[in-house]
Amino acid sequence: MGRCKMINYKDFWGNYIYVFTGRWYFMKKNINKVTIVGTGFVGSTSAYTLMVNGLVSEIVLIDANIDKAEGEVMDLNHGMPFVRPVNVYRGTYEDCAGSDIVIIAAGANQKPGETRIDLVKKNTEIFKSIIPQIVKFCSDCILLVVTNPVDILTYVTLKLSGFPQNRVIGSGTVLDTARFRYILAEKSGVDTRNIHAYVLGEHGDTEVLTWSLTNIAGIPFNKFCNRTGKCQSDFDKELIHNDVKSAAYKIIEKKGATYFAVALAVLRIVEALLRDESSILTVSSFLEGQYGLSDVSLSVPTLVDAHGVEMVLELPISADELSLLQKSGNSLKEVIKTLDL
Ligand code: NAD
Repeated sequence: MGRCKMINYKDFWGNYIYVFTGRWYFMKKNINKVTIVGTGFVGSTSAYTLMVNGLVSEIVLIDANIDKAEGEVMDLNHGMPFVRPVNVYRGTYEDCAGSDIVIIAAGANQKPGETRIDLVKKNTEIFKSIIPQIVKFCSDCILLVVTNPVDILTYVTLKLSGFPQNRVIGSGTVLDTARFRYILAEKSGVDTRNIHAYVLGEHGDTEVLTWSLTNIAGIPFNKFCNRTGKCQSDFDKELIHNDVKSAAYKIIEKKGATYFAVALAVLRIVEALLRDESSILTVSSFLEGQYGLSDVSLSVPTLVDAHGVEMVLELPISADELSLLQKSGNSLKEVIKTLDL
């Protein structure tokens, strides 16, 4: 696909039509196309992880700063001999056409001391200019929002796009959940992938660590510690909560931005979507009464497949956790009320 320019037509059966060195080719729909809007730290690192993973065959990069997008494209393309063929190019919104997924990582990021909520007005205005353009050229894709505050901007994207709820998702607390699992893995000396734990609610200051669901091999975390002697069971939950919640602040203070782990989280979500995995991920999506919350997009364990959100899972969390989750959702609803949508 490297030198192959895709023409954004589909035939009657949904097959793509290509032009390759002047000749027309008809190909069965076996390519995955992803567009990334916003090629800053997060967008460009996401493009890199997608490229290295070999999951997609076409990546379009769009940014208001054309030089930035072009520079990232050049840098990525120079790595082409080391990865599976993928067509990476700088595009305009017209090039969104035919994308399976459009990832939105455009907008302001947190500066040291800023909260994610501080970005809401600025980034909502940016989304008002971006979303209609994407929808114009790609009305059947899945929109994956990464820009902060991600839960609120997922809601904003749903309203601005008019897309069905299943096709508008936010990266949500997939990253926070990874941070929580990493900390528990460090404490227990067990592979991170065997730590089952979820962070729910806002990707931000009101997020909730659901200790009631946390387990290793089906055993609650503290019981696992007691049984194996591999870890202390009287660990400080507040300290762990604080470490997860303040991780982004600490990283931003030290290096200015966070992007590696979130890009891997984006890759994981894209993989679940493109491979129709029915994976459980704490993405952000529109709630309609689940956990006693409605008319808000929030991060909770969700089955993710090729349709986007297959099902929001209502898990049996403790009464305290439920109350904190509702508080988190309601605090976002208050912010949403202040937006002119
Ligand atoms: P960045 O400043 O490096 O990049 C933002 C990019 O958006 C820039 O290249 C800018 O030119 C572009 N942009 C701005 N307005 C645009 C417009 N109207 N159209 C197209 N492009 C536009 O920021 P970053 O560090 O890459 O962060 C991007 C966003 O991702 C921020 O909101 C940040 O808070 C968020 N983020 C989210 C998570 C998460 O877990 N959801 C994690 C880290 C960062």
